[in-house]
Amino acid sequence: MQRDIVVVQGEKDKTGTVHRKCPSCGVVKPLNDFGLRRMKHAGPNGEDVVRNQSWCRDCRSGRRKEHGP
Ligand SMILES: [Zn+2]
Repeated sequence: MQRDIVVVQGEKDKTGTVHRKCPSCGVVKPLNDFGLRRMKHAGPNGEDVVRNQSWCRDCRSGRRKEHGP
């Protein structure tokens, strides 16, 4: 039986929610805003590896929020 390897870059707060700073917009967001990607057979024994996306959803979709003056 195969197990997925889950690799998450982020910090867990006391409620158990993982937050991560987006390197593109610099905003700290919950990991749910980043999404996950699965890399098939990327583990040392052929396991699937699940990682968070490095950029948040907004940045990946190309939507840039302008900061007001
Ligand atoms: Zn972002």
